Amino acid sequence: MCYAIPGKIIDSNGNLASIEYFGEIKKARNDFFELSPGDYVYAQGGFVIQKMSRDEALSSLEAWKELFFELKKIDNRLSRAGPGMGKISKETARMLNKARRGAALTKQEALALFNIEDAREINLLFKTANSVRQKFLSNACCVHGIIEFSYWCVNDCLYCGIRSSNKTINRYRMAPAEIIESVKEAYDLGFKALVLQSGEDGYYTDETFERLIRDIRKDFPVLILLSAGEKGKDFYKRAFDAGARGVLFRFETSQRSLYSTMKPGRDLESRIEALRFFKKTGFLIATGGLLGLPGQKKEDMIEDIFLAKSFGADMYSFGPFIPHPGTPLKEAGIIPADDILKFIAVTRLIAPDAKILVTTALETIGADMRRRGLLAGANSFMLNATPETKKMRYEIYKNRAGLGKDLRVQVAEALALLKELGRAPTDLGYN
Ligand code: SAH
Repeated sequence: MCYAIPGKIIDSNGNLASIEYFGEIKKARNDFFELSPGDYVYAQGGFVIQKMSRDEALSSLEAWKELFFELKKIDNRLSRAGPGMGKISKETARMLNKARRGAALTKQEALALFNIEDAREINLLFKTANSVRQKFLSNACCVHGIIEFSYWCVNDCLYCGIRSSNKTINRYRMAPAEIIESVKEAYDLGFKALVLQSGEDGYYTDETFERLIRDIRKDFPVLILLSAGEKGKDFYKRAFDAGARGVLFRFETSQRSLYSTMKPGRDLESRIEALRFFKKTGFLIATGGLLGLPGQKKEDMIEDIFLAKSFGADMYSFGPFIPHPGTPLKEAGIIPADDILKFIAVTRLIAPDAKILVTTALETIGADMRRRGLLAGANSFMLNATPETKKMRYEIYKNRAGLGKDLRVQVAEALALLKELGRAPTDLGYN
């Protein structure tokens, strides 16, 4: 969804547009339209994705007018820093105060915060992260849809149910026309940003994909993010030219040898090289990794945050590794959900103005994780827009949250939660 609020162009200079929303000015990149002051647009993830008529804009703004401020009020109330620091250790108080002032935390400090065990300190960590989120990003919360279009993969990653040597699963591929049908369903329900995800599948040629993206952009003004793995520079260049503007591409772990163990025949360097290329090309970058892989230490996970930051991640996507029975790691354990919440909070303190996701994997391992993640510093989550019969078969791990839930129901639940938390399901430009 990410219902966009119409914004009014104040200034348009080359590829940069200044847009006004109820008196607030944001900036967004404009690659697609001729714009003049007074025009109305929808922006998403920092990109102008649609130009709209004044009448349409004004009627939508009328509907948003009160809600816009009402939601902010609720969020302001919920994100106030809360309990005093009296009963917590001096060192934790010092680090949280430092983060609240906007000073950069060191890796040692980030690790110390990730390691805290005292319930009051953890609570204060979450509240601090939430107030930093509010201060830098106000109440915007991106809700992207994800369409899992192919369950084939050439890779044999030890952790992943899609791995090529898992013969216990019933794989599928969606034809472009079927993908477009899912895009339409999501668009009609209000989605403005969609991720197209698959295993690393050579079946779709660069041309097929380029045409698909053009066809989507022609009829549906959505921000398109790709999550299709290491498909080569040409594939991504053509996708960008066709109108895709984001990638969801995790580096999985910052630890070189762990990476090669988990992804046989692959090396971290080429994954990182791809991320640098995406950034240079102009894609919005969503990246991150798995938490709780066998052999992964807490300091490795902290290193992951700094690695994501080093190549300018716009969105941080970190979630628990969940063992799949059809993989060599089937006997492994799962990191506690509370550790992931602490990790989200620490990520927020390190990347105050980033989008941080509550992943579906986190929602799968604990109750009420979407709400708890959003109150611990996150400001984004995804809903699954894959057709139900396919969604059940896309088993990167089993029993994913949201299975068996129609997209309409997922949207209704998401909107109710966001309203309660005072978050606006919009993703405007940046400040
Ligand atoms: N082919 C794409 C998308 C891969 S699937 C790519 O290479 O980027 C999307 C993500 O699912 C992966 O990046 C991985 O981090 C996650 N994933 C895979 N197996 C998982 C598991 N068992 N538990 C949790 N997440 C998993």
